[in-house]
Amino acid sequence: MADCIFCKIAEGIIPCVKITEDDDVLAFLDINPLNTGHTLVLPKKHYETLFDIPEPVLHACMSTIRKIAEAVFKASGKDGLNLLQNNYRAAGQYIDHIHFHLVPRNVGDGFLTTWPAKPCPPAELAELLARIKAGL
Ligand code: 5GP
Ligand code: ZN
Repeated sequence: MADCIFCKIAEGIIPCVKITEDDDVLAFLDINPLNTGHTLVLPKKHYETLFDIPEPVLHACMSTIRKIAEAVFKASGKDGLNLLQNNYRAAGQYIDHIHFHLVPRNVGDGFLTTWPAKPCPPAELAELLARIKAGL
């Protein structure tokens, strides 16, 4: 993708602080971290979202995440770590090349702490389940 910043990073046209790479996957530090150690993992080939990435490529990303997560966590000196992946603007995706965020967390760091969940009536869950299963 000509205008994709992550394609340019994957091709080495734009520099990054690289943690690791193989033929398919690249991991590097986020330029604008939420916390120390905020890391991005992505396929080198351009896929937009979770709905587009082929399963073997997704597995390769997950394998890299599993390999580096503990080292990122320990190096950050933080108390916890989130694995996040945003799809489309409504979910906070601003770069349309699928990527996974590893975000080290501190107790009381103040973000992602409010989770405005509310109970769902059983009938609504059952109706939703039927619609999900119809799409499988
Ligand atoms: P999104 O909101 O799309 O899930 O996340 C995009 C992430 O990419 C953001 O955390 C942002 O800081 C990071 N980012 C954007 N441009 C660059 C860049 O040129 N280099 C690096 N290392 N990270 C970037
Ligand atoms: Zn791309």
